[in-house]
Amino acid sequence: MNKWHWFSLGIVAGTVLAGGFGFATAGSPAGQEAAVSNDAPQVELAAAGATPAAPYAAAASDAAAPPDDDGKLRILVLGAHPDDCEIRAGGAAIFWSDLGHHVKLVSVTNGDIGHWQMSGGALAMRRNAEVQEAAKILGTTTVVLDIHDGELMPTLENRRTITRLVRRWGADVVIGHRPNDYHPDHRYTGVLMQDSAYMVSVPFFCPDAPPLAKNPVYLYSYDNFQRPNPFQPDVVVSIDGVIERKLDALLTMESQFVEGGALGYRDPLGDDPADREARRQRARERFRQRFANVADQCRDKLIELYGPEVGSQVRYAEAFEICEYGSRPAAEDLRRLFPFLPEKKQ
Ligand SMILES: [Zn+2]
Repeated sequence: MNKWHWFSLGIVAGTVLAGGFGFATAGSPAGQEAAVSNDAPQVELAAAGATPAAPYAAAASDAAAPPDDDGKLRILVLGAHPDDCEIRAGGAAIFWSDLGHHVKLVSVTNGDIGHWQMSGGALAMRRNAEVQEAAKILGTTTVVLDIHDGELMPTLENRRTITRLVRRWGADVVIGHRPNDYHPDHRYTGVLMQDSAYMVSVPFFCPDAPPLAKNPVYLYSYDNFQRPNPFQPDVVVSIDGVIERKLDALLTMESQFVEGGALGYRDPLGDDPADREARRQRARERFRQRFANVADQCRDKLIELYGPEVGSQVRYAEAFEICEYGSRPAAEDLRRLFPFLPEKKQ
C-alpha cells in the first residue's frame, strides 16, 4: 500500500488539513502543474517530507493553540468550502483582525470536487494553499477540515467536531450558513452550527473540550434564499474601507474564480495569460457587484446603524442575521462584538 493510500485511510472526518501539509503546495508552482493527476500528491507529500502522521499533528496543534486570554474577541466563521468564509465574512474579518481580535475561518469540507478539471487530494491541497494565502491578507487563522466536498452530513461525529472547534477557540461569535441554502454542504454546515449552539454548554458532551462559560452569539451569513423565510439583516457592516483587500484575498482562489470552479467546463480557461488576467478582472467586478447588492438589499439597516448620511452612501456590505440559538445579543452587545460599527445613532 503506497503512501497516498495510507494517507487517505489515515484521515478521519474533522482532522485539520491546514498547517499540516498546506506547505506542500503553498507557493509551489509544481502543485498547480501536477494538479490534473490524482497521482501527484504522492510525489508532493513525499517531497515535502509529509507522512501519514502529519495531519494528526496538525489537528493536535490546532486543539492546543487557542488564543491567549487577552480580552480580545474570538470569532469563528464556518463555511462549507474553502472560499465561503472569505466571501461572506472576509471584510468583517479584516476589521476584527486589524483591531487585534482573533478570527478563525474554518472550511468544513476540503473542496476536493470544486474544479472542473481536477479533483481529489491534489485539489484539496491546492485549495488549502489558496485559503492560506487569503488568510495572510485577511489576518485570520484559517483551517480546512478534511471532509470530502459534496459529502458533508450532519453526523454525530461532525457535531462533536464543530462543538470542539467552538469551545477550543473560546468563541464569542460563531458565524455560518443558514440551513436553507442551495448547496447541501452549506445546509449541513448550518445544521451543524445550530447543533453546536446548545451542545457547547453541556459539560458531558465531548468532555475532552471544556464547555464555554458563556454561550457565543450565533449568526447566519447573508444569502438570498427566500424559502421558507428570507434572510433578515440584524447586523450590516460597511466594508467600503476594506473592499480592495477583501477582493485581493478572494482573487487568491484562482481555482474557483478564475478557472471556473466545479462548473468551469462550460467555459474552460485556455493558456492565454491575457485571458487569465481578463477573468481575474471580471471576477473582481462580479464580487464588487455582489457586495454592492448586499448593501442595497440591507440599506434600511445600514441607515439605522450608520445614520442616514453615511448609511445611505455605503457601497459594499456584509450582513448577518442573529440565530435564535446561542446567546441572544442586545443592541449594545452587538456593538461590543462588532467594535468597528459606529457609535449608536440617536
Ligand atoms: Zn460553498
